Amino acid sequence: MSTATTEAVRFLPFHTPLIEQEDVDAVAEVVKSGWLTSGPKVEEFEKRFARYLGARHAVAVNSCTAALHLALEAIGLSEGDEVLLPTLTFTATAEVVTYFRAKPVLVDSEPCYFNLDCDQMETHITRRTRAIIPVHLAGHPCEMSHILEFARQRGFHVIEDAAHAFPAKYHDRFVGTLSPLTAFSFYATKTLTTGEGGMVTTDDDAFASRIRTMRLHGMSRDAWKRYSSEGTWRYEVVEAGYKYNLTDMQAALGLAQLAKTDRMLQKRAQIAQFYTEGLKDCAAFCLPRISPSVQHAWHLYVILVRPESLTISRDKLIEELRHRGIGTAVHFIPLHLHPYYQRNWSYCNGQFPVAERYFNRCLSLPLYPAMTLEDAERVVDSLHDIAYKFRA
Ligand SMILES: *Cc1c(COP(=O)(O)O)cnc(C)c1O
Repeated sequence: MSTATTEAVRFLPFHTPLIEQEDVDAVAEVVKSGWLTSGPKVEEFEKRFARYLGARHAVAVNSCTAALHLALEAIGLSEGDEVLLPTLTFTATAEVVTYFRAKPVLVDSEPCYFNLDCDQMETHITRRTRAIIPVHLAGHPCEMSHILEFARQRGFHVIEDAAHAFPAKYHDRFVGTLSPLTAFSFYATKTLTTGEGGMVTTDDDAFASRIRTMRLHGMSRDAWKRYSSEGTWRYEVVEAGYKYNLTDMQAALGLAQLAKTDRMLQKRAQIAQFYTEGLKDCAAFCLPRISPSVQHAWHLYVILVRPESLTISRDKLIEELRHRGIGTAVHFIPLHLHPYYQRNWSYCNGQFPVAERYFNRCLSLPLYPAMTLEDAERVVDSLHDIAYKFRA
């Protein structure tokens, strides 16, 4: 991405993580300690993460993709099974389903918060349906009471993709405590980062134990207890597992980030409010809506262009903002529009109109605690400038 702008204006990236001295020190301490891979820092990160949310277990892994994979493994997903998930998500949500030779069954979005449309789930059920993966898009929780009740009545599992939803609340309870399995992401652009990383939260002892075993080669740390009262070094390989463990270096960064989670959320919420105040009278854009029964994690602030008020497309808007030194992003290209999903699962253009219309109009603005309110002001001013210049 070019950082060259017309004037000597600093380029405002779409995202930069908030890395402060304490983050650097925490990682440096681990690097110097001589213990680099999974160890005491991972254990501490899991404990603190679980305590923050009020979850019984938190199991750290090296990505949200791994977290989703292990969650599906824990429920025993098998070949030919079907899993309902929104088309408006990142490919990771669906690709993990294909690891099992199971089918990702895409569902359109509802037109208010653009999360999985509960009313449309019924039409996608078959006798092979086993699970639902709701995604809390942008950090706004899905209508979980509907989804959980729908799943309970039919015996489906629910695995939440909470890659955007730390720390979000639904009716005063944190996402991560609402359903049996929730997957979080600590990717570089997410609200809490370890560079790469992820977490599964669960209240179910059996799920937690299974995921702990499978994330590190299927080795059972508890197995030795049955045979010996001595060294903890003795392990057994009880399954063919995966190499999905988080390192202590990553966990140290996670702990430093977790310690300032509330401050970081506050800053994102403040910027989001600044955008809403600054843009609410601008006819060219629709602004995100927030349900009164949630705490938004504010991972993304997504505006939608109003084609009737703006003569340029979303793509041209991205260019105009880039010329003004502002980086933006698009979340997401719906899965059914990608070649892989069309070729292998027979999805086609035009199949999910709400998600498609959203995709054609959506733009994610910079939103992160490492930016200032002056940066946010530049974004608002630029959007007004563009809306005026290209008014319909
Ligand atoms: C980022 C993201 C993921 C994948 O997270 P990783 O930690 O990179 O594996 C999954 N789902 C959604 C919705 C995401 O945005």
